[in-house]
Amino acid sequence: MSFNKLGLSAPILKAIEDQGYTEPSAIQAQAIPAILEGQDVMAAAQTGTGKTAGFTLPLLEILSKGENAQSNQVRALVLTPTRELAAQVAESVKNYGQHLSLKSTVVFGGVKINPQMMALRRGADILIATPGRMMDLYNQKAVRFDKLEILVLDEADRMLDMGFIHDIKKILAILPKKRQNLLFSATFSPEIRQLAKGLVNNPVEISVTPRNATAVSVEQWLHPVDKKRKTELLIQLIADGRWDQALVFSRTKHGANKITKQLEDAGIRASAIHGNKSQGARTRALSDFKEGRIRILVATDIAARGLDIEQLPHVVNFDLPDVAEDYVHRIGRTGRAGATGKAISLVAADELDQLRAIERLTQKLIERRYEDDFMPTHMLPDTTLDTRPIKPNKPKRPREQTNGPRQGNGAKQGGNPAKQGNAPKSGNRRPSAPKAEMTPGQGLRSKPLAPARRNRKPD
Ligand code: AMP
Repeated sequence: MSFNKLGLSAPILKAIEDQGYTEPSAIQAQAIPAILEGQDVMAAAQTGTGKTAGFTLPLLEILSKGENAQSNQVRALVLTPTRELAAQVAESVKNYGQHLSLKSTVVFGGVKINPQMMALRRGADILIATPGRMMDLYNQKAVRFDKLEILVLDEADRMLDMGFIHDIKKILAILPKKRQNLLFSATFSPEIRQLAKGLVNNPVEISVTPRNATAVSVEQWLHPVDKKRKTELLIQLIADGRWDQALVFSRTKHGANKITKQLEDAGIRASAIHGNKSQGARTRALSDFKEGRIRILVATDIAARGLDIEQLPHVVNFDLPDVAEDYVHRIGRTGRAGATGKAISLVAADELDQLRAIERLTQKLIERRYEDDFMPTHMLPDTTLDTRPIKPNKPKRPREQTNGPRQGNGAKQGGNPAKQGNAPKSGNRRPSAPKAEMTPGQGLRSKPLAPARRNRKPD
């Protein structure tokens, strides 16, 4: 299959050639013709599948045929959950649209709003935005949607996880009814299907990754280890394996800082990326990592979501995530584009519940590897594969926040969500949901979402 067959015009094909792409990825081959036909699309595709070009290329093609946006007008709106993803999509729009005369703008929280208002005065054929800042700009009359043709929700599942559902609903309410809708999500969860009902019309459904399956090109194993010896083991793994680069996941922002400091103290160049870091620090950490100036990037789940880092050889789960789906997202950072990646988890005895949930979700027992010098004093109990289907979550209901976050690793989750850029503005916006959980001898039971998850603050 060649890009020439997809119905894209010469300036876009030239930009694709400039990028060095020779053939469309699976998502591109399916999504581009459907979008060009004007159909709504609902696509299950993770970062690394080429999904961004999958919607950006046809978007540019369609917009290049019409009249440019006038002042404050927006013709295509792309909503993303995080600033990093917004910046990356904007970069793609710029690259793929370099031979066209379309205007694009990116807006997100955490930076001054005035320059964004100024930029929008010229109008934007494509506006890439995070939901919170989008609403702020709309309320300040910096944008008009009367000429909106296309709406894209990128990483919609993460937007819901981050509590953006209210902003999304408000945004949908102010858009013209007649428009083309494109919904991209890592998985089609029941919540996503619910959102899709009020959004897409008779959509073409595309799925390029089996639901919740982990990529086959990722070798996964875990090291049982005592909690307090995890950093020591990580340093040994990096040294013995002569790792060039790795992305290390920490459950908390405080944990990410602590790991980074300990790696730096051991002479390993590392940076942390999470929501308490300024936008400048986050961008710098990412570019330092991409250009090889740092070896280890330590990230929280939300900050890492959507990071476009190519062919990352190692991903480390320093802590197992509270939500099993995050494990799938995390290890999706490695083993991309046909290269085999390694996903290594450091698991302490008190993470047994998370491990069980992950193995149940991925339907795979994770191989255990013991390191001689790190035999745990608190043994990680054996697990068996639970093959019973997982019940979908009930629809989420808003709920008052009462408790502070559970403190993992003795760590405190710092930061005020109101100060975190596009973070949801009030604590009660984080919806609660029952979570399916296995307990020994009890089978499946439903219980409220663990506090750490329910109150997790968006990065
Ligand atoms: P995405 O899934 O959109 O985050 O894209 C992942 C990476 O794949 C990005 O670095 C893109 O530049 C790259 N990419 C996208 N489409 C293609 C293609 N057709 N061939 C090769 N690389 C691609």
